[in-house]
Amino acid sequence: MTGESAALPLLQMALRVEQDIFVIRQRGREVAAVVGLEHQDQVRIATALSEVARDLLRTTGGADVSFHIDADADSRFHLRADLAPVSPLPDGRYEPQSGAVSRLVDTLSVSTVDGVTVVRMSRRLPASAPMPTPVRLAEFRTELGRTAPSSALEELTVQNAQLIAALDEVRSQRDDLAVLNEELAETNRGVLALYNQLTEELEETNRGVVALYAELDEKSAQLRAASESKSRFLANVSHELRAPVTAIIGLGRLLTDSASDPLTAEQGRQVDLIRSSAADLLGLVNELLDLAKAESGRIEPDLTDVDLRPVFGQLRGTLRALATRPEVELVVEEPAAPALLRTDEVLLGQVLRNLLHNGLKFTERGEVRLRARQHGDRWHFEVSDTGPGIAPDLHDRIFEEFYQVPGATRVGGTGLGLPYARRLVTLLGGTLELTSAPGQGSTFTVSLPVGGM
Ligand code: ADP
Repeated sequence: MTGESAALPLLQMALRVEQDIFVIRQRGREVAAVVGLEHQDQVRIATALSEVARDLLRTTGGADVSFHIDADADSRFHLRADLAPVSPLPDGRYEPQSGAVSRLVDTLSVSTVDGVTVVRMSRRLPASAPMPTPVRLAEFRTELGRTAPSSALEELTVQNAQLIAALDEVRSQRDDLAVLNEELAETNRGVLALYNQLTEELEETNRGVVALYAELDEKSAQLRAASESKSRFLANVSHELRAPVTAIIGLGRLLTDSASDPLTAEQGRQVDLIRSSAADLLGLVNELLDLAKAESGRIEPDLTDVDLRPVFGQLRGTLRALATRPEVELVVEEPAAPALLRTDEVLLGQVLRNLLHNGLKFTERGEVRLRARQHGDRWHFEVSDTGPGIAPDLHDRIFEEFYQVPGATRVGGTGLGLPYARRLVTLLGGTLELTSAPGQGSTFTVSLPVGGM
């Protein structure tokens, strides 16, 4: 949009008397309609024009009004109205009487063009407006020239109609709002119902979980009670058994004593049998007592800094006496120095002795080996043998009290050693695990924390 036709105003008018305000308003709306502003915007710019015109008439005595089309840097078009006051603005400034005026248009400012001060307002044309080519602008001018300004009364009628239309719009918006509100309330009711339903389901589930927990608590209390009464029974029975068995052993010893009356050879053999059976029984009773004590939590580990090398030396010495088969070698590997561990030395000794003893009992040829390694913050003790091995489905069962692998060579024992060993290891804050398969030997691994429980 260049050249003279662009600089030429679309329409020019004079504001001198009160009636001119109506004319300017009416013509402003016509210009807005011709250049393609939407209905709402036509009313807005017409209203802004009449307000500013009223202000200028009062403060400066009138103005010359002209309408133009501008293009901005982004090639978007604006309808611009310039009101050049006939006398200077007070203080060279213009403040609209009503602050709302500036909200009716996109820009409202005071500019000085070629030494003339004008109050200028503009409103952007919508994308749907016809492209303001020079030809189109010429057509606009012709069209606006044709329409004659109407009277103040006519303009008043138009304004009334516009007011009614605006009221209608407000009413329809209010109706829309009511419908929306109703919908919102409906949705709210739905959400509330859903929420209530969810809450109920959640409460139901909660009640189920609570009941389940109560049942679980009850069951574990029952289990605890059962386990406690078992331990108490074991402890009492063992304790009661110990006195008579010790008496039998003592009396047997008296019978075979050289100070007593001599026995016949057969009697001597039978008394020996009674004594050895009673010794076995005492061994069993003592093991039961140990286990009952461990289970009832009456064993308090006494933690000290233990050097493993003397412990291993002692095990080597005491177990050599049990390694009676020449086909089986007992190997206790010397742990690499420094072999330090914070634990209960006596309990650890009992566990390892028990495992090594089992290895020697069940291995017919090959070797039984003990070795210790440190892995990070744990010590691993491995007791491995080349014995018959244990089927994987029995790995848990052999840790149950009195369980002995069926069909295995009977080599004595009670089935209490492994449960006791595992109990002690747990007391020391460790684990006792088994790796074994039939025909492949067994490896029992005790894992203990380096720094104690
Ligand atoms: P006990 O040795 O007094 O029978 P344990 O509780 O120590 O009782 O062991 C339970 C059972 O586990 C044993 O009877 C035996 O059948 C099996 N078992 C334990 N250690 C080994 C092993 N090193 N090799 C093969 N079987 C074993």
